[in-house]
Amino acid sequence: MASITFKSFIGLHQSSMEKHRHHSITTPSECLVPSQLHYRRLTVVAAKSSPTITGRNLRVAVVGGGPAGGAAAETLAKGGIETFLIERKLDNAKPCGGSIPLCMVEEFDLPMDIIDRRVTNLKIISPSNVAVTIGKTLKPHEYIGMVRRELLDAYLRDRAEASGATIINGLFVKMDKPQEKNAPYILHYNTYNGKTAGERTSIEVDAVIGADGANSRVAKSIDAGDYEYLIAIQERIKIPDKKMKYYENLAEMYVGSDISPDFYGWVYPKSDHVDVGTGTLRHKPDIEKLQLATRLRVGEKIQGGKIIWVEAHPMPQHPRPRRVVERVALVGDAAGYVMKGSGEGIYFAAKSGRMCAEAIVEGSENGRKMVDEGDLRSYLEKWDTIFGPTFKKMDMVDKVFYRSNMGKEAVVELFRHEYAQKMILESYLYKTVATVNPLERLKLAVSSIGSLVRANA
Ligand SMILES: Cc1cc2nc3c(=O)[nH]c(=O)nc-3n(C[C@H](O)[C@H](O)[C@H](O)COP(=O)(O)OP(=O)(O)OC[C@H]3O[C@@H](n4cnc5c(N)ncnc54)[C@H](O)[C@@H]3O)c2cc1C
Repeated sequence: MASITFKSFIGLHQSSMEKHRHHSITTPSECLVPSQLHYRRLTVVAAKSSPTITGRNLRVAVVGGGPAGGAAAETLAKGGIETFLIERKLDNAKPCGGSIPLCMVEEFDLPMDIIDRRVTNLKIISPSNVAVTIGKTLKPHEYIGMVRRELLDAYLRDRAEASGATIINGLFVKMDKPQEKNAPYILHYNTYNGKTAGERTSIEVDAVIGADGANSRVAKSIDAGDYEYLIAIQERIKIPDKKMKYYENLAEMYVGSDISPDFYGWVYPKSDHVDVGTGTLRHKPDIEKLQLATRLRVGEKIQGGKIIWVEAHPMPQHPRPRRVVERVALVGDAAGYVMKGSGEGIYFAAKSGRMCAEAIVEGSENGRKMVDEGDLRSYLEKWDTIFGPTFKKMDMVDKVFYRSNMGKEAVVELFRHEYAQKMILESYLYKTVATVNPLERLKLAVSSIGSLVRANA
C-alpha cells in the first residue's frame, strides 16, 4: 500500500540532544493564497525551554467533533494529553457526499460496517452526455468508500472518548486569550442538547485546536483571515429498489455549465438512498437552479424517488492566511483544507487533526511540558511539505478543467485512456502521485493535444 505513514508518537522518547531542536519558523508572509502557494521560511536553532507541568498533564480543547476533531482528540488522548472535545450536536449529519479514499479506511482503521457502499465504477458524464466509466484498473481489494457522516463522525468521536477524551455537548461561543506567557485560554460554551441551549460554562486549557468547520468561531477568535468558498447543496433521494440496484457500486459525476460553471454534480450511493448534489463558487444565488438541472440530467435513473433531506454548506477553496496563532491551531475545513475542483475534504480533515495532535503530543513530551507556537507550527510545516504541492496542482487542474464546456468534453474524452484512469484513481485512493510510465505518458500527451485541438476547433 502506497499510503503515507508517519512516525508513531506513542511513548516517544527524546534524547537530550533532541531537546535542542531546530525550529523552522514560518514568517507571517507564509499565507497560502489561492493561486500563489508561497512560503518564506526562517530557520532558527532554538532550545526547548517550556516549563514542565506539575500535578497534571497538558490540557487541550478540540472545538468541533467532525473528522478533524474526532481524529485530533483520539490522538491527543492516546498521547497523554488531558483532552476535551466540544461538539454542539452529537447526532450531527454534516452536509457531505461522504466519499472517502481507501487510504483513509486503512490509516484510520475504519470498520466496514460504517461504510455504506464500496464503489468500483465511477462514471464521468460530459456536457453532451458522453459517459466514460473508470474503474477497470482497480485491483480486487480497491474501492472508493461511501459513508454517511452521522456514522463516521460519531464513530471517530466514540473512539476518542474510549481513548480517554472527555466529550462535551456544547456550543463554543468565545475564547479569552491568556494575558501572560503560559497562562491558560478560557473557552466559553453553552451546554447544548442539540435543540436548546443550556447554561453558559467555561473551561481552562493550555492549547486549542479549532476543528469547527467552514464557519469556524475559533478562526474568528484568532483573526485567522478569510477564504473564498464554494456553496454546495445536496439532496438525499430515496429511489425505488430496482433503481438503487443500478447504483450498487457506481457513483456518477456530471459536468457542464448547466450543472455548474465551476464545479461538478454528483450521484453518490448510500445504503438506502442516493445523494445528488452540486456546487458553485461564482454563481451562489443560482444554486437551487443548478441543483434542479443536476436532477434533470440524472433523469430517469432517479425518477420516482423521494427527496428525504436537503442540505447545503460552504466549502473552503484554499487555506486561511493564518492557521496557527500562539497556542491555537486550525485543522480541517476551519483551516481551509478542501481540495479545489474535487471538493474532497474528509481525509484531509482527519489527517490534519491527527498531525496537529501529534505535534502537540511530541512538543509536550506526552503531556508533561507546556507547548508553544513553534510546537504547533511544526504541524503546519509537515502539512505544507506533504500536501502543499498536491493542493497547488489541483488549483491548476481546476483552472483548465472548468474553463469551458469544450474543455470538459476534452477532459472526459481523456479518461477513456486506461493510463489516465489509473493515474487519477491511484492519486485519489492513496493520496500519492502514481508512478509515471514514460511511454504511456507520451501517448497520453499526444492524445491530450488532439482532444484539446478538437475541443477548440
Ligand atoms: C455538500 C458537500 C459535499 C461534500 N462531499 C464531500 C465528499 O464526498 N468527500 C469529501 O472528502 N469531502 C466532501 N465535502 C467536504 C467535507 O464535508 C469537509 O471537508 C469535512 O466535513 C471537513 O471536516 P471537519 O471536521 O474539518 O469539519 P466539519 O465536518 O464541518 O465538522 C465541524 C464540526 O464542528 C461542529 N461545530 C461547529 N461550530 C461549533 C461550535 N461553535 N461549537 C461546537 N461545535 C461546533 C459542527 O457541529 C461539526 O460537527 C463536502 C462538503 C459539502 C458541503
